[in-house]
Amino acid sequence: MSDRPDAQRMETIVSLCKRRGFIFQSSEIYGGLNGLWDYGPLGVELKRNLKNYWWRVIVHERDDVVGMDGSILMNRAAWKASGHEDTFTDPMVDCRSCKARLRSDQLIDKGKGKQCPVCGGKDLTEPRSFNLMFKTYVGATEDEASLTYLRPDTAQAIFVQFKSILEISRKKLPFGIAQIGKAFRNEINPRNFTFRSREFEQMELEYFCRPEQGMKLLEYWKEERLRFYEKIGIPRDKLHVKTVSDEERAFYSKGTYDIEYDFPFGRQELEGVAYRTDYDLRQHQAASGKSLEYFDEDTKQKFIPHVVEPSAGVDRTVLALICEAYAEDEAPDEKGKMETRIVLRFHPRIAPIKCAVFPLLKNKDPLVAKAKEIVDLLRPHMFVFYDESGAIGRRYRRQDEIGTPFGITVDFETLGEKDAKLRDTVTLRERDSMKQERVGIKDLASILISRIA
Ligand code: ATP
Repeated sequence: MSDRPDAQRMETIVSLCKRRGFIFQSSEIYGGLNGLWDYGPLGVELKRNLKNYWWRVIVHERDDVVGMDGSILMNRAAWKASGHEDTFTDPMVDCRSCKARLRSDQLIDKGKGKQCPVCGGKDLTEPRSFNLMFKTYVGATEDEASLTYLRPDTAQAIFVQFKSILEISRKKLPFGIAQIGKAFRNEINPRNFTFRSREFEQMELEYFCRPEQGMKLLEYWKEERLRFYEKIGIPRDKLHVKTVSDEERAFYSKGTYDIEYDFPFGRQELEGVAYRTDYDLRQHQAASGKSLEYFDEDTKQKFIPHVVEPSAGVDRTVLALICEAYAEDEAPDEKGKMETRIVLRFHPRIAPIKCAVFPLLKNKDPLVAKAKEIVDLLRPHMFVFYDESGAIGRRYRRQDEIGTPFGITVDFETLGEKDAKLRDTVTLRERDSMKQERVGIKDLASILISRIA
């Protein structure tokens, strides 16, 4: 692990992300646009693996959760009812000296009054509310009647469809509805790479329950979510649970936890787990005039369910995964001399490429043919990369740097030229230990599938 200062570590990670095609600045050739990012060929794989694993754990492996995919634009009435139109705001302050636009909680206070964190100036405006929702118009006229917003979270679509999904899925409480999708916030001060972006993705679960189950389920989901992060390779000692205080919590919430991670730029929120009571459904029921109640067959009671919401950020988790995976160690070069190796130690489950296949030499047709056969054999099961160019050590190094957990080399022994017993075996190299084992081609798929599951 590098002992460089954290700001430098972050800079190294950002530049690796760009160099190897994980994350680029959006519209870069036009000078970019603040707070917006594009995921390149490797970034998109990492992100997809994360989302797929979340979906697997939250939806597929449970009987009590179903999924949905709502539209980004919704009737403006939904944003009025949810409270977003009036209260989805951050207090904004301008520094009159350097013109910086700041969130008032970013001001520094060393005991002599609030100061601008950019220039240290004290000539600041009074805080004023800034609504974070992006406005847009639906249809050909741009007026009040056609105004709506890009959604700032994915949850509202779930609340609004609650009744239809309850009816068609025939679920009984407690049950949940999960969704992954884009959200947009016109953040006053986007920063820390993708951590605070203006367009991002969320993975949200609304888990509906009886009022008396709420507090217990809040604990349950906090623990479940901590387990999830550990299963994707974020160690427990880098995760922290912050109990959100009464003053900081939304007025309708009876309990909220923030799950935080030690990023190189400090301890910051990855996910919020909130017991939101029946606030959301109650608001939408009142504003729409449609019943969002649940009828309990056993007790013959009718009531508005309560909800516990684990709400995670895809982009923040991807960033945490990259920060956690980044390491520098020592490995021998072609001549056996030790050199610094950059390696992304992703958990195999979320690594962008699962396995790279190399023929020892590219100008030996039987080696190339065998390597391509192996690629075809593995492709139905995982994302495989074929590489024949350069010395084998260099090919390993390129894969280490992008976090590919397994490398397969086809050599002359695979062809049975040296020892008939080794025919149709390959070397399987593991990224972190760099250990190599000799494995039969016929066993490759099952070995790898079990290691990346
Ligand atoms: P913060 O306090 O950092 O602004 P928040 O408490 O407003 O976040 P929530 O509204 O609880 O965030 O949203 C749930 C999750 O969505 C967050 O935990 C985070 O992972 C993600 N998220 C929220 N805002 C952003 C953003 N601007 N960029 C990237 N991810 C975000």
